[in-house]
Order: sequence, then C-alpha cells, then structure tokens
Amino acid sequence: MTTHVNSLWLPYAQMKTVVPPYRVVRGEGVKLYLDDSKVLIDGISSWWCVIHGYNHPVLNQAVQEQLAKFAHVMLGGLVNDAAIHLAETLVRITPPRLNHVFFGDSGSVGVEVALKMAIQFWRNKGVPQKSRFVALRRGYHGDTTGAMSVSDDDEGMHRLFKGVILSQYFVDAPGGVDIESEECKVSLHQLAELLKSNNSQIAAVILEPIFQGAGGFRFYPPEYLSHARRLCDEHEVLLIFDEIATGFGRTGALFAAELANVTPDIMVLSKALTGGYFGLSATIATSQVYESFLSDDPELAFMHGPTFMGNAVACAVASASINLIETENYLGKVKAIEQVLFEEIQGLEGASLCDARVLGAIGVLEFESPSNLMGFREFALDRGVWLRPYSKWLYTMPPYIIDEDDLRRITTVMKEWVSYQGKRI
Ligand SMILES: *Cc1c(COP(=O)(O)O)cnc(C)c1O
Repeated sequence: MTTHVNSLWLPYAQMKTVVPPYRVVRGEGVKLYLDDSKVLIDGISSWWCVIHGYNHPVLNQAVQEQLAKFAHVMLGGLVNDAAIHLAETLVRITPPRLNHVFFGDSGSVGVEVALKMAIQFWRNKGVPQKSRFVALRRGYHGDTTGAMSVSDDDEGMHRLFKGVILSQYFVDAPGGVDIESEECKVSLHQLAELLKSNNSQIAAVILEPIFQGAGGFRFYPPEYLSHARRLCDEHEVLLIFDEIATGFGRTGALFAAELANVTPDIMVLSKALTGGYFGLSATIATSQVYESFLSDDPELAFMHGPTFMGNAVACAVASASINLIETENYLGKVKAIEQVLFEEIQGLEGASLCDARVLGAIGVLEFESPSNLMGFREFALDRGVWLRPYSKWLYTMPPYIIDEDDLRRITTVMKEWVSYQGKRI
C-alpha cells in the first residue's frame, strides 16, 4: 500500500506531486514486506548498499554484541576496539600503500574529507594555490557542496546550484570497450592538457573508477586509470578514487582500482561498507599523504572530526560484513550474477532502448528519455519487484546473496518493460 506523508520530507522528490511511497514493515534476505502483505524482491539493494540482504543473522549478531558493550564513544581522546579493528582490516584489503583510515558518517562526508585532505596536503607542503579539482563529466560524488562541485555541472541533479558552488575543472567522461576508443582518447587528451596548463592550481583529480553511478550508469576501460595515474604523477597532482559505489565487489573485483592495479593517493568507501546497516564512510590515505600532516606544528594537523566518526556499532557491523565477503566467496557470487545478467540483458534491443550493458553485479538499460520509464514502478510492483529507475536509466544492482530465480524475476520485469514499450508506440 502507498502511504501519504507530509511531515517526512522525501529525497529528490517534488512533495506536491510525489507518488506516495510504499511502507515497508519487514525485510528478510532479498525481500521487502509491505504493510498490505505484498512482497517485493529488492533489485537495487536499497541504493546499492544492502549487499547481504536484510536482517542478516551474522550482521545482527555483530550489532547486538557491540550494543551490549556500548553504542558509541567519541573518537576525540578516546578510541574503541571496533574502530581500530575496522581500520586495520581496511588497510589490509585495500590496494597497497593505502595505510591510514579517516572515518566519517556518509559517502558525501567521506568525499568532503578527501577533498579537504588533498587541499591541506598541498598547504602543508607550502603550495596553497593548489586548491582546485579536476573531475569527469557524468560523475556523481554526493550532495554536499564540495561533493556537488566535483559532480557533473550540467547533466547532474545539481544544475540549479550552478554559479553558487565552487567551479572546478571537468574533462569529458571516458567510455567505450578499450583504451583506443574515441571517448578515452578525448578524455585523456583533455586531462593531459588541463594538467599541463593548470597544475599549479590543481590539488587532485577525483573520479569514480570503472563505473560512473548516479551520473549516468556508465562503464569505462580500467586502463584509463593507469593513464590517469601517470598523468597525475607527471604533473604533481593527487589522485582520488571515489569507490563509494564500486567498493566491496560491485564491479567484480573487491575494489575497482584492482582491475587496473592502480593505487590512488586517497580512496573513499561508504555505501556497502556496513552492508547497508548504518551510515559510515572511510577515507583512506597513503603514507605519503598522511606524512604531510606530521609536524611539530599543531596547525598542520588535519582539522576535521565528525561527532559520530568511528561509531562502534557501525564499525563492528562493517568488520562482520567484510568477514562475510572474505569467507563466503562473495566475488564468486558477483561473477554468477554477472553471468545471468549477461545472458538476460547484455545487448538487449527494443523500442526506445538505446543501450543494454552489464558489468559485475550491475545491469543497465538506457532508454531514450525519462518518459520511457513513466509508470514503471507500478508495473514492477505488480510483478513483485522493487526497482527505482533514475532519469532514463532502468538498472539493477541486486544484493549479492540473491539466488538465480529471484534474479531472473528482476531481469524478466526489465525485459517485459522493453517489449511493453514496443507495444505502446
Ligand atoms: C552514493 C554516492 C555518494 C554519496 O554518498 P551518500 O552516502 O549518499 O552521501 C558519493 N559518491 C558515489 C560514487 C556514490 O555512489
């Protein structure tokens, strides 16, 4: 059943005309139970974070064990074992040389921390002019003002704020099947030129490796990252990977950076970090970045500290989540999902459908316009599936624990919508 809400202000919603949301009363595995006893398979893992499904016994236990001790203590002057253990685990599993973890409470905050860290890195080295960023068009890095400034300025959801937030440098997004593609060549050429002429202003390049999420659900070749790494080194600019969407297996590797064997100077993780249980981000820096903050001068310390950073319950559940990923062959599960998605939707053709693409546990149908997806929500609901198209993209990013039958129910709804479009014309 849908529920009319008024006091609860919904995200990205015109509250005057918003289609009333469904009320969830229980979650179990990949299924969401609504108040009218309808059951929906969650095809997008609650904005890509619930990778183990809902109400997972192991994660629940981790929460309860930590709760029985305490939920939270400040990280100023006090530490807790859950935060220490998670930091050590993240250092172990992320690419080499990423050795120092700064916690925050959401993806956007994790990105803000990364940007601020990059700016202060150069200030601490006596180069305060290096304070701007280069980002990719079609990128999305979050909803806070710094993150907005490096998200696509024309195509993205923050058009309205153009001229208000800080302007940054942009290069065209890479794309295509390999590094010889026109899109990659153009993008790398622009990046090289920009870094050559403006490196005295530029603190860092920030990008979503391999998979651009909310800015266009696009894939691009891993080799691009090696070239970006080389150009950043050549022009003395830091490289930041926003792995908030790609981290923890979504593209098929534990981190997208591994697909190119590239270590960024700073990496940001969030979304699947706690298996979707709590908001938590980790901004992880190399020793080179970290050491620029070490000094006898207290002024050079990193001046940041969210109230809830290192929350013990969030950290405990994140460690339990990573343990599941490592011990229950999650990359194998992603591979199996990728195979089914390939079979079902890769290269699919149909009326109003521009492209159908798959990478890891991500399947995307790109339509000509958002109007091609009007009415999709009810169409899917009638078929027992929860998907939330964004703009002209209908995508699935299911929980990794989904079984083949449920996954095929999702792809069937997507395919049925394509043929339904054909009949509407
Ligand atoms: C979701 C997302 C963010 C923002 O994270 P929030 O937790 O929503 O603030 C930033 N970058 C990428 C790539 C994302 O997918």
